[in-house]
Amino acid sequence: MTTDFDTLYIGGDWTTPSSPATYTVISPTTEEVIGSVPEGTEADIDRAVDAARAAFDDPTGWSQYEPHRRAEILERFADALDKRGARTAEAVSRQNGMPIQTSQSMEAVFPALLLRYYAGLIKESTDERRPAMFGGTTVVRREPVGVVAAIVPWNFPQALAFTKIAPALAAGCTVVMKPSPETVLDSYVMIEAAMEAGLPAGALNVVPAGAAVGAYLVAHPGIDKVAFTGSTAAGRSIAETCGRLLRPVTLELGGKSAAIVLDDADLGSRLEQFFPATLFNNGQTCFLSTRILAPRARYSELVDTISDFAANLIVGDPLDPATQIGPVVSARQRERIESYIAKGTAEGARVTAGGGRSADHDHGYFISPTVFADVDNRHTIAQEEIFGPVLALIPYDDVDQAVAMANDSEFGLGGSVWSEDPVRALSVANRVHTGSIGINSYVNDPASPFGGIKASGMGRELGPEGLAGFQLLKSVYQAP
Ligand code: NAD
Repeated sequence: MTTDFDTLYIGGDWTTPSSPATYTVISPTTEEVIGSVPEGTEADIDRAVDAARAAFDDPTGWSQYEPHRRAEILERFADALDKRGARTAEAVSRQNGMPIQTSQSMEAVFPALLLRYYAGLIKESTDERRPAMFGGTTVVRREPVGVVAAIVPWNFPQALAFTKIAPALAAGCTVVMKPSPETVLDSYVMIEAAMEAGLPAGALNVVPAGAAVGAYLVAHPGIDKVAFTGSTAAGRSIAETCGRLLRPVTLELGGKSAAIVLDDADLGSRLEQFFPATLFNNGQTCFLSTRILAPRARYSELVDTISDFAANLIVGDPLDPATQIGPVVSARQRERIESYIAKGTAEGARVTAGGGRSADHDHGYFISPTVFADVDNRHTIAQEEIFGPVLALIPYDDVDQAVAMANDSEFGLGGSVWSEDPVRALSVANRVHTGSIGINSYVNDPASPFGGIKASGMGRELGPEGLAGFQLLKSVYQAP
């Protein structure tokens, strides 16, 4: 059975696309077609931006609603998403191979959680009044930045859409969202929820499209802010466009984070936390600690622990609740991962678990969880983002060297420190140059800022800082 759509959600209604072209969605598990949606064009983007612009500029529209009124609608949107949580989770897992346990706990839950969180924040915040230094009063207002282009990748299509949509709508912005062609079916479940919640026409518009149409959206004269999650290469290109246009932009990009295992760590008893920190979503997660820095004195023991752990993970159908590792998203992504595995071996690292396609599956894009030992931090597999279930174990002699290696990276997004001594772990975590870091786990906190430094991006999502990214500060000086 396939799920097919032939309309686009623009201006609050289902509309006819400007072109008959469609995207077909291929299951990474069966390699069969599972659905199709219209392929958005520049003309569709024009219509979507016009609708968002009209909604934003409407003097009685969304941007002018009292925060309480916006919050009420966002809470209804959250309720409507909750009702559809099981469908969302299944749609995501069928499209990108995410184990259903993960899609149920992330994709089905995070969007509604963020809508409620930001609805709560706008109910609490008011304009700030300050005594002005030369007499009178200054009122510092937070105004919505305008029409937002939200561009999202395939790995967490719903959660990452709502790190943008929820704060943007809460701030009073209107949004044109461009999902990735690999994961478009879930966006139609989200649209149903938006319509049921009574989101006003044009507040949210969705145009599935590829990179070229995405670039057109970024440069569109009707856009006031770009919020992007994706690869570093695409992020650089978007940053160049936004730099030329002086257009605000938030970039959540790639990573190659380090797990620093200290000499007192009891990793064997922490494997339940180690798994989501290193191999979450089949290794297709930006913040994963895929470089494992292990003390030389315990190196061979840790190689054994991590290799056994990886070799025993359950690889299988993402819709089976027992599955821990599903297929990677596409044939193209599988080839990319295989080329990195080949490079790892060619540069002298040693495969201690996995090492290629899963022997148990004769179809589907399955890669066995792979561990490399004897990796040098300058090897390609330690420096470049693989975005698959591949870990590189690197020995270190002392903590200063471990910190230096963690920081010797183009990226700076996540990371983790593993130790039984919380004070020592914190002092090491504080020395790692990164946007976020976990101690004995890595769990995104929706109420705290998330984002990267260096080639991992600019700006922050989540927390109150995520809302601030969609607000302009305006000072109104009032005479005494
Ligand atoms: P990608 O950059 O190829 O595509 C991401 C999205 O951007 C897609 O919707 C794509 O169509 C669009 N796009 C691509 N080039 C564009 C351009 N020049 N202008 C406008 N839009 C463009 O990335 P991907 O392969 O879909 O996703 C994987 C990447 O995303 C990884 O590098 C991963 O680390 C990163 N990621 C980062 C975070 C984070 O929060 N930092 C989270 C998840 C994924």
